[in-house]
Amino acid sequence: MSRIWVKLDATTPIPLSELSPEKRRAIEEAVARPDPPPRFLRLPFAEIPSRAWYEWHWARNINPDRKRKLSEKTRDLVITRDGLTCRLCGGPVERSDVHVDHIRPRAKGGDDSLSNLQVSHSACNVRKGANG
Ligand SMILES: [Zn+2]
Repeated sequence: MSRIWVKLDATTPIPLSELSPEKRRAIEEAVARPDPPPRFLRLPFAEIPSRAWYEWHWARNINPDRKRKLSEKTRDLVITRDGLTCRLCGGPVERSDVHVDHIRPRAKGGDDSLSNLQVSHSACNVRKGANG
């Protein structure tokens, strides 16, 4: 497991050294799973960044803080190339329902290059279960 230190601020999680042994074990279990744990922990009055989520990404050499949103230009290029056809189910997609899907999910190291992107229905992308 990675031990990279980060400055504690509103967007970084509690350091491992401040967690109980049980919580650290829970994080190790979460890191061992193939899919990332939730990004935030819900507390009664706040949402805080999940240490496990960070550790999961660091263990795979993925920067957890990289930009998540695709540029409009990239989106348009993918839609122009694929047309309004879902690449997951083959069906026609309404313009208002176009989703640009990551073929290899970002969570598994996929990037935002055109060869890793395709048009899909938003519902088909949800079914695929990836952070597309
Ligand atoms: Zn579809």
